[in-house]
Amino acid sequence: MSFFDVLSKYDVDKFKELVDSKTDKDIELALAKQGAHTIDDFAALISERARTHYLDVMVQMSMQLTRKRFGRCINMYLPLYLTNLCSNKCAYCGFSVANKFKRVVLTLEEIEEELQAMNKMGYTNILLVSGENSHKAGMPYFEQVLPLAKNYADYLQMEVQPLETDEYARLKELGLDAVSVYQETYHPEYYKKVHLAGKKADMRFRMETPDRLGQAGIDKVGMGALLGLYDWKVDLVATAMHVLYMRDKYWKTNLSISFPRLRPAQGGFEPHSPVSDAKLLQIICAWRIFDNELDLTISTRESAQFRDLILPVGITALSAGSSTEPGGYAHKGQNLEQWTVNDARPVDEVVKVMEESGFDAVFHNASTTYFKAV
Ligand code: SF4
Repeated sequence: MSFFDVLSKYDVDKFKELVDSKTDKDIELALAKQGAHTIDDFAALISERARTHYLDVMVQMSMQLTRKRFGRCINMYLPLYLTNLCSNKCAYCGFSVANKFKRVVLTLEEIEEELQAMNKMGYTNILLVSGENSHKAGMPYFEQVLPLAKNYADYLQMEVQPLETDEYARLKELGLDAVSVYQETYHPEYYKKVHLAGKKADMRFRMETPDRLGQAGIDKVGMGALLGLYDWKVDLVATAMHVLYMRDKYWKTNLSISFPRLRPAQGGFEPHSPVSDAKLLQIICAWRIFDNELDLTISTRESAQFRDLILPVGITALSAGSSTEPGGYAHKGQNLEQWTVNDARPVDEVVKVMEESGFDAVFHNASTTYFKAV
């Protein structure tokens, strides 16, 4: 039974009621618990009452748990957008097939230029990102790109269209370490409403992707929902259930969680339930208290001020100096970006702030130190 089958047994709209029903006693029990936390604990930690009355305690606890498990090291990664071509019609995304603009698929030469520019910035933890187009950016393309990227990366991640188990196994042989696949929303009707055409409209196939990744033995799986797309309480409880399911069924697989908030993109799309800064701070703490082992990742979607604020609270991986435009590191400004970068500071500025706060920015490859690169 896959997680899709598990979730199908629930009325996910009830998850909001579960969160809203939580009392001070529930929150205090969740905060006091030493062992494994339950979905009820997580619901209590993301409740309104927890934010208004327990946020200071949650922040302190999250900081302590993160330092105890991860020390003061923050893993630095950088996305490489391979293509802005996409066959899907997602109502909230600038790359949607419905939007008319120049589409590009980077050639191997162009990818190599990007990788060289990324190495110069100090990065060897590379996240390959693409729109979803199996015809022009499918397995044959990835089988060419990965061996090239591996020459420049000592940790290689992908965020591309969901693939089959044997395809993930093949990419693992070529050096793939981690895959992120965000569910966007776990609400079946709303999922249908915003995924209008293309393979992504198949909710089951997407939701079963972490299963296939676990079966293929991929080291780390990135999960999460696009916060604000649907009701964030519903999507967070469903994501927490998915995490527990993965922990139980694929105990060798490492997990990371991202919490992207819906940002402006071409085509204009209003979030269903916006997530404020205070809510996101609470959500980060809730994840850390719920599961001490989770990698928690933050991208440049968030503002500089907010990123600096939350860095000590629970974050373990961070991007800086990112471009969401294919070819944007070697030749900036030639193609459409997928979403607007909110923290546009150069990487050296971000690292300086991190070091002033006592954190080590880890770029993985000892021979490529950041300071040599700049
Ligand atoms: S969200 Fe992903 S799949 Fe949907 S249109 Fe954008 S790039 Fe394509």
